[in-house]
Amino acid sequence: HAKESERGSYRFFTAELNARAVERLELDGKLRDALRLGEFELFFQPQWSLADGRLTGVEALVRWRNGGGLISPARFIPVAEDNGLIIPLGAWILEEACRTAARWRRQGHDLTVAVNVSPVQLRRDDMVARVRDVLARSGLPAHALELEITESLMMGDDLPVLDMLAALKELGIKLAIDDFGTGYSNLAYLKRFNVDRLKIDQSFVRDIDRKPDAAVIVSAVIGMGRRLGLNTLAEGVETEAERTALLHAGCDDVQGYLLGRPMPGKDLDALLTRQLA
Ligand code: C2E
Ligand code: MG
Ligand code: MG
Ligand code: MG
Repeated sequence: HAKESERGSYRFFTAELNARAVERLELDGKLRDALRLGEFELFFQPQWSLADGRLTGVEALVRWRNGGGLISPARFIPVAEDNGLIIPLGAWILEEACRTAARWRRQGHDLTVAVNVSPVQLRRDDMVARVRDVLARSGLPAHALELEITESLMMGDDLPVLDMLAALKELGIKLAIDDFGTGYSNLAYLKRFNVDRLKIDQSFVRDIDRKPDAAVIVSAVIGMGRRLGLNTLAEGVETEAERTALLHAGCDDVQGYLLGRPMPGKDLDALLTRQLA
């Protein structure tokens, strides 16, 4: 019987793998056309200062409009990383984000724009030349651009990537560590690469007002950030109770559904106009 059930679970496993492989293959084909067809859109999620409630920046989050629906980046970014499309797609995202933010700044809004950067872009694209060009073309000042990278990139084994990060910093841009706390950081590198901001992952923010363990972790990150002179931003803030707990813990900035979902650029136009008034 043991043999039989083993074979059963094996069959189940391959069926599931096949379904996933087929889905990926379908996405792969459609993704290749999507850029040419203009099916990608940038949404922007506002970031707020906890101390004075000011909108200080936006994070650009890509969306794929396909057949009447929106496909989540969590599904298609991994495929784009595998098939190399992340290089032209990432270039389009950077360009679009900088152009839009430069327009907002010309209208008098003092904000930064954060762009997620895939490890594949840092390994296979000349990000230094690309960022320099995009800044020059868009007119966005370097200090108004923040690149978000994940902790794993800073583990320290990939020398070309670490050199590129250092060269990017020399352009004057800001560097944020996304989903901080979920990976393994080489803490020494936070200082060495002049990281500007730690984005505390939403898994630690969730129910921070009711979960002592999460509260301890968040306080520790904020305390370390403060001593190292880094800005701290809490991601995924959904409730007033979470916001209040973060304020008391000394967090600098927040981002989350409570204060604004990711939205199309024109919706952010309206929000910015209200803030200026
Ligand atoms: P991320 O960079 O950590 O982005 C935060 C994610 O949390 C976003 O999901 C955002 O919509 C979501 N979020 C924001 N506030 C809340 C909240 O209060 N509650 C909850 N439950 N979620 C919240 P999204 O837009 O689906 O993006 C998922 C991930 O896909 C991103 O995680 C990022 O890793 C990746 N991604 C998104 N856009 C890009 C991009 O332009 N380039 C690259 N390379 N990756 C991207
Ligand atoms: Mg991010
Ligand atoms: Mg994140
Ligand atoms: Mg994430």
